[in-house]
Amino acid sequence: NNIVVAIDGYSSCGKSTIAKALAKKLHFVYIDTGAMYRAVTLYFLRNQVDTTDAAKVTEALDNVHITFRSEGEQAHILLNGEDVSDEIREMHVASNVSKVAAIREVRHAMVKQQQLMGKSINIIMDGRDIGTTVFPDAQVKLFMTADPKIRAERRYKELVVKNPEITMEEVFDNLALRDHDDTTREESPLVQADDAIILDNSHLTPDEQLDFALGKIKP
Ligand code: C5P
Repeated sequence: NNIVVAIDGYSSCGKSTIAKALAKKLHFVYIDTGAMYRAVTLYFLRNQVDTTDAAKVTEALDNVHITFRSEGEQAHILLNGEDVSDEIREMHVASNVSKVAAIREVRHAMVKQQQLMGKSINIIMDGRDIGTTVFPDAQVKLFMTADPKIRAERRYKELVVKNPEITMEEVFDNLALRDHDDTTREESPLVQADDAIILDNSHLTPDEQLDFALGKIKP
């Protein structure tokens, strides 16, 4: 059987950093489910989809095709064939994604695709509901946390390179809002799986995190 490593947690706790490092080390495929919700959000924004109308949402989802392509160490995400890897990180997507991700039809479509992707290959998948909903039987589940201020500082440093107009306050508020939306939504809210191992990433270096995680995975 293939191995599934599920990494869940709040926004900007460093999930993708550790997921990428693990995937590289173990030769597993890394799947960033947050990028999928961001790509759907971008499609909905561009096409002004009325998110209060379930029929419109379902119809729109039929026209959303998300694929991943790896180029060297970089994973690119394609929305209907277009590389949207950079655009999905922008603030207009970040400030709408949690609302879109709370829509039942959106979650069902994404979960279905995620389950298919992880059916037969060894994967590291990060998100909010991987250990609880997407792969409740995952062999290894990590739940990441970190001090909100440290998270905002890290995310700000990443974002400001491409978006010089961004402010620290904006980033902090966006993380707080997304955490709130993600933990309070009706459909598979962000919650730690009973059998998940907590990894507090406030003060760990990437190498320390990797060692910790590798110690939990026994292929
Ligand atoms: O991981 P990232 O911060 O890029 O995810 C963006 C947003 O997508 C999250 O704030 C959350 O609202 C949503 N998401 C989700 N379930 C996942 C992954 C992401 O609801 N499995």
